[in-house]
Amino acid sequence: MERTLTILKPDSVAAGNSGKIIDHLEAEGFEVVAIRKLRLSEAQAQAFYEVHRERPFYSSLVAFMTEGPVVAMALERENAVRKLREVMGATNPDDAAPGTVRALHASSIERNAIHGSDSPENALLELAFFFSRADLVG
Ligand code: ATP
Ligand code: MG
Repeated sequence: MERTLTILKPDSVAAGNSGKIIDHLEAEGFEVVAIRKLRLSEAQAQAFYEVHRERPFYSSLVAFMTEGPVVAMALERENAVRKLREVMGATNPDDAAPGTVRALHASSIERNAIHGSDSPENALLELAFFFSRADLVG
């Protein structure tokens, strides 16, 4: 079993899609190990997406991620990191495979509904960003 971190982004929460997306993830075999609804501060969003600091979309991405509440979850299943990326679909919803979360719920390359860790190493770092060890007992 492996764990990964997902964030239902502010567009999903504002549209009332969090329940639908959680259903979708559970139907794909993910167990919700921990869940938090919170509004990211600017400093938190900047730190979370630090790897993109030099990209032209960074300040817009930080503004988007702080515009309203998000739902962060620790998810568990076999090959969780790779499988979540598959179930999410491509970053740009125009390229996302039919039936993926982004094909169903994203409205643009920025407002794309969901985040998922991109490697097992980053999953551990991102899980620790949102959850304490006591939250992750399973
Ligand atoms: P995430 O890290 O949120 O799971 P991702 O790994 O599919 O998404 P990244 O390249 O890590 O994509 O980009 C992080 C986020 O930045 C994207 O999900 C999207 O919200 C935003 N983003 C990426 N590329 C662009 C772009 N060209 N224009 C605007 N926003 C973008
Ligand atoms: Mg990414």
